[in-house]
Amino acid sequence: MGSEVLFLLLPLAALSGWLIARRGESRRQQRLCRKMTDGYFAGLNHLLTDREDEAIEEFLKLCHADSETVEIHFALANLFRRRGEVERAIHIHQNLIARPALQRHQHNRALLELAHDYFKAGLFDRAESLLLDIGDEPRLKAESLKQLQKIYQQEHEWERAIQIATLRLKDNPAAALPLSHYYCEQALSDLQKAERRLALVALNTAVKVAPGSVRATLLLGEVYQQSQDYAAAVAAYERVEHQDRELLTEIVSPLCRCYELMASAHSQPSLLDKLTVYLKGLLERQPQPALAVAIAQYRFPLAVQSQVHQLLEQFFLNTPSLHGVRFLIERWIEQSGRVTPPTSLQRLQWVVNKISESGNIYLCHHCGFEAKTLYWLCPGCKQWSTIKPYVR
Ligand SMILES: [Zn+2]
Repeated sequence: MGSEVLFLLLPLAALSGWLIARRGESRRQQRLCRKMTDGYFAGLNHLLTDREDEAIEEFLKLCHADSETVEIHFALANLFRRRGEVERAIHIHQNLIARPALQRHQHNRALLELAHDYFKAGLFDRAESLLLDIGDEPRLKAESLKQLQKIYQQEHEWERAIQIATLRLKDNPAAALPLSHYYCEQALSDLQKAERRLALVALNTAVKVAPGSVRATLLLGEVYQQSQDYAAAVAAYERVEHQDRELLTEIVSPLCRCYELMASAHSQPSLLDKLTVYLKGLLERQPQPALAVAIAQYRFPLAVQSQVHQLLEQFFLNTPSLHGVRFLIERWIEQSGRVTPPTSLQRLQWVVNKISESGNIYLCHHCGFEAKTLYWLCPGCKQWSTIKPYVR
């Protein structure tokens, strides 16, 4: 349970205020006061020892004993929502909102909590209209903007998501990362409408907002390649090395393709030599097995195949890995020039292929989600840019 119960400690401050206010009152009220304190701590104790059902029972009793204890209602509703009992949470928050005597701040807080409930229940429209109603109360504004951003992201309303994330960026530098992804999403939608110029504006803004945005850089490369500006595309792909070395595997295929297209467009086969020089330097600077595997998987034109294979052989001999063994066996079979390679080598190849067949996968550093393709938003934990290539 740990820090998740901290939200239940929040009512403590309000409860103490309530107790102090009632200190001077009658004996009956003092008894009620003691009962409330004991009940609150009993409930908290149940939570800390992972007994949620007993905790809920205790908090329900407190609510019945004194319906004025707003904070206990908030705590109880939060608990219901966390357990997935959203309808019960909604019911409590709606009752709170209906109280005419509720202070303005508490009223707005109940609206915010109800919006959380609606979001969890998938009722995004209702959540959105509540959040837009909360107004500018500073204490709740940040939280309501955060929640609105989640809604627009979930609904793929990128323009609105951009507006909200830009507002949040003033006080929250962490909003830059999702904001850059929203611009990328906007660019993808522009590209679908063949609005290449608008897409370039969105992508350049994404890089301005988050200079380390590999996604924006890869998309810029793609747009330049579509426009047959291969030199600009190559320059974009090569920038990834300075942004995030863990994502270098993603540039291999488009970069090699651009060099091929550029060589053929300018009738300059020597440009392919430039590519092998770049790949050699890249592997020396970034000796990653995943990068070498990605290079080994690309089908190079015959003119440079042997050069690339030589540099990969050298890499795998210097940096031993199972994928290296796989590559070396394939290469020895090729080099043997025999139609039927020796049975012992075939058997060895079969065993190694069996062990390493999964090749490159993608893994979320935040929640451990595994995928066969690169997701920019983790489907498991809904975090941006947490999935990276991984070699088993
Ligand atoms: Zn994840």
